[in-house]
Amino acid sequence: EDVVNQIAAGEIIERPASILKELLENSIDAGATQIDVETRSGGISWIKVKDDGCGMNKEDAFLSLERHATSKLYSLNDFSNLMTYGFRGEALPAIASVTKFTLATQEKDSPEGVIIEVHGGKIVRVEQTAGLAGTSVTASSLFYNLPPRLKFLKSPQTELLHLQRQLILAALSHPEIGIRYSHSPGGKGQWEKGEDLWTRISSVLGEEWAKELCWIDKEGEGFRIYGAVSKPGVGRPSREDMFFFVNKRAIESRSFYLGVIDAYRNSLMKGLYPLCALYVEVNPDEIDINVHPTKKEVRFKREYAFRDFVYKAILEKLSTAKL
Ligand code: ADP
Ligand code: MG
Repeated sequence: EDVVNQIAAGEIIERPASILKELLENSIDAGATQIDVETRSGGISWIKVKDDGCGMNKEDAFLSLERHATSKLYSLNDFSNLMTYGFRGEALPAIASVTKFTLATQEKDSPEGVIIEVHGGKIVRVEQTAGLAGTSVTASSLFYNLPPRLKFLKSPQTELLHLQRQLILAALSHPEIGIRYSHSPGGKGQWEKGEDLWTRISSVLGEEWAKELCWIDKEGEGFRIYGAVSKPGVGRPSREDMFFFVNKRAIESRSFYLGVIDAYRNSLMKGLYPLCALYVEVNPDEIDINVHPTKKEVRFKREYAFRDFVYKAILEKLSTAKL
């Protein structure tokens, strides 16, 4: 089992940001309204994610550390359901197999909670606790038991950039959730609970950024697209500031990307990319996620219809939103 978990870990956990992503998704799934994140040394030495979500009882807490013990996946069809995050209950066991890991959790309305500490996949401590309202997961000393994998990590500064990207994606995908973060080194900050999307986009990406955007919201062909796109002529030399979400989940999609890019062909200089935080809502039956654990790539059943919908929606916006 240990080896199996470590192999799974190899696929799921490339770097500290992969751990942060999984933990954030779990907290979001658990219905958290506030998530607190602490990291040290770019997450290599320490990542802690604490939420006020539903928590787990003792039995479920132990189950969550076993592979495929997910409560979320009932049939193969559910793979296409992006409304639910998570991948087959592999994340926690994988993380626990390559770190010194502590899960502390208490179910809502339960008088007591449990702390389970796992080192490299082995349970080393179980304790009763009280006064928690939700779940707190700590993953420290990443790859302490797999020294060769440590060598593939970049500097703490570079790993921190990846952590920050994950936080931004979570903050943009759920503007209603409050997020506090503290990186040591790297500074701290927060996004307030209950923000609307426009406020969240400005608070995450900056007022400057927001000034260069216009709002879009359009429905048709079984899709709804909404969010912020740059005004005609406004662009950046990199595509770093293009954020895509489907059913509230950060994803990659070639059609989504190309639909946007094509729409800017006549209003943006060559070599520049638009800024965007774009959200699509679609019936889960219309999409497939790659079955690989970390792939965030989404395929649409009607790939071309989707691309064309995005293209036309944005083109229409650009033609009316002259500077
Ligand atoms: P998955 O998210 O694919 O189900 P994980 O390994 O990430 O798999 O988590 C396993 C299970 O542990 C989840 O299905 C959920 O029931 C429970 N769990 C994990 N994190 C939390 C959390 N923060 N709050 C409540 N339950 C959680
Ligand atoms: Mg998960």
